[in-house]
Amino acid sequence: MFNSLSDRLTATFKNLRGKGRLTEADIDGTAREIRRALLDADVAVPVVREFIARIKARALGAEVSGALNPGQQVVKIVNEELVGILGGQTRELQLAKQPPTIIMLAGLQGAGKTTLAGKLANHLKSKGHAPLLVACDLQRPNAVKQLQVGGERAGVPVYAPHPGVSSEAEVPTGDPVAVARDGVGTAREKLHDVVIIDTAGRLGVDQELMAQAANIKAAVGAHETLFVIDAMIGQDAVNTAQAFNEGVDFTGVVLTKLDGDARGGAALSVAQVTGKPVMYASTGEGLKDFEVFHPDRMAKRILD
Ligand code: GDP
Repeated sequence: MFNSLSDRLTATFKNLRGKGRLTEADIDGTAREIRRALLDADVAVPVVREFIARIKARALGAEVSGALNPGQQVVKIVNEELVGILGGQTRELQLAKQPPTIIMLAGLQGAGKTTLAGKLANHLKSKGHAPLLVACDLQRPNAVKQLQVGGERAGVPVYAPHPGVSSEAEVPTGDPVAVARDGVGTAREKLHDVVIIDTAGRLGVDQELMAQAANIKAAVGAHETLFVIDAMIGQDAVNTAQAFNEGVDFTGVVLTKLDGDARGGAALSVAQVTGKPVMYASTGEGLKDFEVFHPDRMAKRILD
């Protein structure tokens, strides 16, 4: 229906010969288009505002090279800024010098943590690691069972408080911090080089939940804490990300449900307000619906 932002901007300037410098008038028109595209992609309003201000500051007076018309020049700047905010380069997990590397997942209930745990285990296994999954979501009925199913699919063992939970609706009891600690102990004993800890989420940000996640992180000394966020969350991305950043000081972000309609604006919102890189994307319910995140591809998805 609409052309991509890149096409629209380029068309706006088609008749100008690309020489000289970008003027205020050039930039105001394009800023309006960029604002609309970012809002359409569900980037949070304050993030859009800040982004536009940066683009304007950079574009005003920028020299238009012979090869590009002013529209193309602005598109180039927008693209560079998007990629920069999204973390520039793809960032992979930092492995601990002394194994096991301990990775903890945190996020709201329904964000896709348990699903992701299986995928991440599968991904790491395919790279030659020997991961152990640890089930510390003792809040959501079925979460332990779900992790066990995911582990089985990936061919990765799961450490769970009650390995024999039989009823799907049964909520295992126990202290998640103790389970995490025991899980890491088991990983050391059995020579797993990576531990992936699934934690409980709630429907909204909750102090008790945050304290629990922070306690698990401290108890096991997690090397990587991945904040898992649903790409469909839209404008709420900023508040949720800020709360988790303060609560657990995460090291990276995983964006889930990118197979849906979401354009991925949440990635930009989270990266901008926390300064943390997006590392992985989840694109479906299957084990293989998982990608290492590429900032340049996401910039394209947001702009197109
Ligand atoms: P948790 O509460 O954070 O552990 O969330 P779950 O892993 O249970 O996921 C919540 C729901 O979202 C489940 O029905 C999953 O199958 C689904 N889900 C998770 N990740 C994705 C994804 O990338 N795409 C789609 N379409 N569904 C997903």
